[in-house]
Amino acid sequence: MTELPEYTLVRSRRRTLALEITPSGQVIARAPLKMSRARIQAFVLEKAGWIRAHLARVRRQNQLAAQAGKLTAEDIQALRKGAEPGIRERVHLFAKALGVTYGKITLRSQRTRWGSCSAGGNLSFNCLLALAPPEVVDYVVVHELCHRKQMNHSPAFWREVAVALPDYPARREWLKMNGPTLLARLPDE
Ligand SMILES: [Zn+2]
Repeated sequence: MTELPEYTLVRSRRRTLALEITPSGQVIARAPLKMSRARIQAFVLEKAGWIRAHLARVRRQNQLAAQAGKLTAEDIQALRKGAEPGIRERVHLFAKALGVTYGKITLRSQRTRWGSCSAGGNLSFNCLLALAPPEVVDYVVVHELCHRKQMNHSPAFWREVAVALPDYPARREWLKMNGPTLLARLPDE
């Protein structure tokens, strides 16, 4: 019989039940206020295999990050300075190719995202992109610029990304697989 994985239950005014694994390896079940505990447990049990696999990956990534070492504030500052000119250049280039405009470009260290695009067209990029391959940086740049056409992740948005970078799925996959290892190198708060 499968053992019930350890998890923390968080109830809120939501409609559906969802599992989440935090970067530190905590399993959180998010459930509607009145859902029975039996139903929640059955769900967690059903997902036990997925939880174990995901936890193993998170732990491995944290281990790798620990080996690679935490970055200091100075390291991050240096990464930011180093990455900024290249990212500006790529934004300029791809914006022209896509026929879109943009506002300010900011680089910061962020724990959860690689880039963002505001409604007004200001772009922000994670300075840890300095540690990612150039083709992955291009993917993040194109992704954010395509939000100038589609402020969502609809099929129409992904079609725009695919026009600029037909092989974007592989680049996105790299970020999915290796991104957490990079993010884990940020100093603890
Ligand atoms: Zn997006």
